[in-house]
Amino acid sequence: MTDFRRIAIVGLGLIGGSIGLAVREHLPGVATRGYDSDPAVRRRAAERGLADEICDTAQAAVADADLVILCVPVGAMGAAARAIAPAIEPGAVVSDVGSSKQAIGSALAEALPGRTVIPAHPVAGTEHSGPDAGFATLFHQRWCIVTPPTGADPAKVAELVRFWEALGATVDTMDAEHHDRVLAVTSHIPHLIAYTIVGTASDLEEVTRGEVIKYSAGGFRDFTRIAASDPTMWRDVFLHNRDAVLEVLDRFLTDFALMREAVRAGDGETLFELFTRTRDIRRSIIELGQDVAQPDFGREDHG
Ligand code: NAP
Repeated sequence: MTDFRRIAIVGLGLIGGSIGLAVREHLPGVATRGYDSDPAVRRRAAERGLADEICDTAQAAVADADLVILCVPVGAMGAAARAIAPAIEPGAVVSDVGSSKQAIGSALAEALPGRTVIPAHPVAGTEHSGPDAGFATLFHQRWCIVTPPTGADPAKVAELVRFWEALGATVDTMDAEHHDRVLAVTSHIPHLIAYTIVGTASDLEEVTRGEVIKYSAGGFRDFTRIAASDPTMWRDVFLHNRDAVLEVLDRFLTDFALMREAVRAGDGETLFELFTRTRDIRRSIIELGQDVAQPDFGREDHG
């Protein structure tokens, strides 16, 4: 359950829309208002009922809300916060769902001095975006990481944690710096690798594009799912989590060079040892219920 009674959602794409639908399903009696800067998105959000009321301005959406959640691209968080600053209730909690946390924490603190800002990141998503992409069960059995700033009111943090649990998520709290390093490893670098390999394959001259598509089941197609993710969102992630991404990327490039050397030298032992270790990681992910064992990763519906 939640103590929040009126929730404002700013940005009505995949994540904002899913929050609106999930609140309706899990928290009857809690009122939602939504706003998106794109009028076409607002129209579609009204048709789909992504929030009880779709407002024409961000300030109208957040007025009276006791929880405001910013669901806009990472690079738009500061501007979105500045736009609503004068209309936020003094006791309201302002949170967000952005995929990097240190940069957003600073941007929100700067835009909303004196307000209760508690950033969060639901580690749940699909490669789809926009107002048609959301669904009420997106957060079921997924993690949500809450990154309370130093000195945050524990009661407000607990309230936000309960909110995400009510939507079906399991919540971890950690500091923003640690979040950014963890997500660099588990999400940001894998996306960079996927974007790169799909780009490389499409640029190869000796293998035709038709062949790449035809024989994609050999592994390539699993990268293409990730590389189909929203370009705006992912550009912003790399612009705003630069330090952690560079740190992990350097480590990856060192390990990649070792693999290259093992292939060049015909060092089957090194290759076999790594491939055995990595299998265990996949098994652990399945055991923890974070994926399914089917070869298609069960992603025909909603990953
Ligand atoms: P999305 O589907 O593209 O939705 C974002 C919406 O916000 C768009 O309709 C966008 O409109 C609108 N918007 C942009 N600036 C705005 C502003 N200043 N005020 C109001 N609305 C604004 O994106 P999403 O996938 O839901 O991602 C939203 C956030 O969730 C991002 O910060 C992302 O890092 C985070 N996140 C995403 C995933 C994922 O897998 N997708 C997972 C976890 C967290 P325009 O298109 O016109 O700009």
